[in-house]
Amino acid sequence: MEKRIYFDHAATTPVKKEVLDKMLPYFSEVFGNPNSQHAFGRDAVKAVDEARDTIARLINAKPSEIYFTSGGTESDNWALRGTAHALREKGKHLIISSIEHPAMLTTAKQLEKDGYDVTYLKVDEYGLVDPEEVRKAIRPDTIFIGVMAANNEVGTIEPIKEIAEIAREHKIMMFTDAVQAAGVLKLDVKELGVDMMSFSGHKFYGPKGVGVLYIRSGVRVDSILTGGHQERMKRGGTTNVPAIVGMAEAFRIANENMEENARYVTALRERFINGIFARVPDVKLNGHRTRRLPANADFSFKYIEGEGILFHLDLAGISVSSGSACSSGSLEPSHVLLAMGVPAETAHGSIRFTFGTDNTEEEVDYAIDVVAKTVEKLRAMSPLFKTEEGEKEYV
Ligand SMILES: *Cc1c(COP(=O)(O)O)cnc(C)c1O
Repeated sequence: MEKRIYFDHAATTPVKKEVLDKMLPYFSEVFGNPNSQHAFGRDAVKAVDEARDTIARLINAKPSEIYFTSGGTESDNWALRGTAHALREKGKHLIISSIEHPAMLTTAKQLEKDGYDVTYLKVDEYGLVDPEEVRKAIRPDTIFIGVMAANNEVGTIEPIKEIAEIAREHKIMMFTDAVQAAGVLKLDVKELGVDMMSFSGHKFYGPKGVGVLYIRSGVRVDSILTGGHQERMKRGGTTNVPAIVGMAEAFRIANENMEENARYVTALRERFINGIFARVPDVKLNGHRTRRLPANADFSFKYIEGEGILFHLDLAGISVSSGSACSSGSLEPSHVLLAMGVPAETAHGSIRFTFGTDNTEEEVDYAIDVVAKTVEKLRAMSPLFKTEEGEKEYV
């Protein structure tokens, strides 16, 4: 088989072998429903309790503050819609950043149709939310502030602690989508000062279709998935025992190896960034130079389309993302880049490379070479980019 290189770890990651091994017995040996009042049920309860304890310990929460969900999307929906519903008598104003994941933005748009007012916080050219902008946006009827811990497209790490302090001063619920940060950055809910936080198993080498919503005890948030007595009556649906066991194991491994992984992946990223700058003219690194996720390098290649680059890289066996996986397929430029003030033409030529612990320097070097040649070839064909007598001229 041809060589394949995966540089799309922000979209999803492979399940680690140790994680899969830990999950397997819970499919067909210890298969009980934790809600059942018998030995099979009790064995399942034990596994889920252990997973809950592990996760709680790693984010400095109480086990009773950990709620299992079907993933980041459900957790984000729950935090936003559940708070909006629970506190609707108090006010109908919500504040979120303009660069949130579609799981937040689409939910906010729907809530607007239901009569809520949403302020979408601007970001600066690096994708950073200014805590002072949050303070200015607060009104007497504000009931929710949601800013992601780190952005999935450009990797910018947001000042959550500072924003949460402002939220607390005003007694407003503070939520952070930590899906990209979990397993990569230290997340201590007490230190961050957040009331709610979401994350998802498949972004840190765990399984898909499972996530967490941390809800600080005492916080009022209505259920969105109503059903049985699961998750202390707050989230119906038969407990996904193997996925929960796998997510907790993956989270434990990611946290235990956090510094070492960050060092390794940052080195790959820097090698890649430096290589691209050395070989490719007219390229911009999106996001913040240092306040960024270790794995993320997001570039705008001027005069060409991201889709074209992605297609050629895919032919060469390199898997990347243009904009974000969620918005690819649409011809709209990334809402994140537009919010950062990147012109639409430039935003169109953007590619996200996200590295993982399974990548190597050789893969990075190969990719630099392929990217450089691909960009040169596409620019030669681009109507936006002219070559005259060997001299490059941009029109
Ligand atoms: C992937 C992602 C989500 C969605 O998580 P799923 O588990 O895939 O539903 C939400 N927010 C961010 C920042 C993400 O990167």
